[in-house]
Amino acid sequence: MTSSDPARIVVAGGGLAGLRTVEELRALGYSGSITLIGAERRPPYDRPPLSKQLMKGEVDDTSLRAELDSLAVDLRLGERAEHFGDRTVLTDGGEYPFDRLVIATGARPVGLQGPGRQRFLRTMEDALALRETLVPGARLAIIGAGWIGAELATAAALRGVRVTVVEAAGAPLANAISAEVGAATEHWYAEAGVELLLGEAVEAVLDDGLALAGGGFLAADEVVTAVGVRPEVGWLESSQVKLENGVAVDEQLRSSVTGVYAVGDCAAFWSGRFGRRMRTEHWDTALRAPAVLAANLIGGSERYDPVPYFWSEQFGRMLQFVGDHRAADKLIWRRRVGEPHWAVCWLAGERLVAVLTVGLPRDLTQGRRLIDAGVPVDAGKVADPAVPLRDSAS
Ligand SMILES: Cc1cc2nc3c(=O)[nH]c(=O)nc-3n(C[C@H](O)[C@H](O)[C@H](O)COP(=O)(O)OP(=O)(O)OC[C@H]3O[C@@H](n4cnc5c(N)ncnc54)[C@H](O)[C@@H]3O)c2cc1C
Repeated sequence: MTSSDPARIVVAGGGLAGLRTVEELRALGYSGSITLIGAERRPPYDRPPLSKQLMKGEVDDTSLRAELDSLAVDLRLGERAEHFGDRTVLTDGGEYPFDRLVIATGARPVGLQGPGRQRFLRTMEDALALRETLVPGARLAIIGAGWIGAELATAAALRGVRVTVVEAAGAPLANAISAEVGAATEHWYAEAGVELLLGEAVEAVLDDGLALAGGGFLAADEVVTAVGVRPEVGWLESSQVKLENGVAVDEQLRSSVTGVYAVGDCAAFWSGRFGRRMRTEHWDTALRAPAVLAANLIGGSERYDPVPYFWSEQFGRMLQFVGDHRAADKLIWRRRVGEPHWAVCWLAGERLVAVLTVGLPRDLTQGRRLIDAGVPVDAGKVADPAVPLRDSAS
């Protein structure tokens, strides 16, 4: 520790981003005090396997096997941060003064209205309890054909559950990758024996099923609402921290309050690369941004401006997405007729800005490099699956 290092760092949020921040601080040689406050009683664990391997029954525990002892961290599990002010975090169990505060409180699922029980899939407890209900013949209604809904439908169908996915948009994944691209995944549901209701908004969750906005009713034994998450920042509303779809932070992950930083699903960081604020909800961000953050916590001025990366495993397929397609003005398909693997590339002007691949990891890797480099590409070559994507740079 140098004389300029902060003496006390408090990390609020014991998920991947919080744990990785602690690990990176120690890896950089920071020897001051670190307190990690986590609302869940469990030590940090990984969420992506909850809807995949754990839901299929391949694993029962996704704990991150961190060497918590060797990290010399004051671990406060089962404590919820409720407020901070005057350089002190107040939880429901104590008070923690800090020189630097890291907000890593993640996100929480959005619920729908209605008196019936709705389950969510965010925590290990959610996942273990839900898995118990996935018995052959049970009727499961999943609200939302997004990433989580598709992954859960995959696992539940494999367990012999009668699955219906209800989606308000006209195609699966419409919000994430556009209805046009999402529509290419529609047939996967039928092939897996999953019923998919498109263009059906849910009006209310009832005790025995779903009331649909169009007047219909869908009977179900269990209902899982998977319509998205919101950043977990309600506890900051009484603070001076600027909130803008999460904690607004700059490229160095600094919030509007000096000495207060944010990282992971709760952080909306400024991307110079894409010219807008981004909040990604990606595991890769929670994994990697903490290295930049840790350096900055102890006096560095590094920037976090990634090409965002996300993957999903659904209906026996690996989907990978890099970049940001919001500013795109052109969409190009790369596929051969009759082949199950395909890719979609988004261009803004002549630059590649995002790539989605289904079972084509090489396209993903090469696309990521082109996006990172920001070089112009030849749209004709991009469209030709016989031309390696890296050779489309013009
Ligand atoms: C089922 C599932 C599957 C996923 N699959 C993928 C995938 O395939 N690919 C991918 O890229 N991403 C995936 N993700 C997203 C990825 O897991 C998240 O981006 C990542 O977990 C974010 O980490 P985080 O530490 O920022 O937030 P979180 O993991 O949400 O951790 C935040 C922690 O802070 C705690 N907390 C909240 N409020 C407070 C408070 N006031 N005080 C103290 N503690 C608090 C929470 O209880 C939580 O433990 C998936 C997520 C889920 C839920």
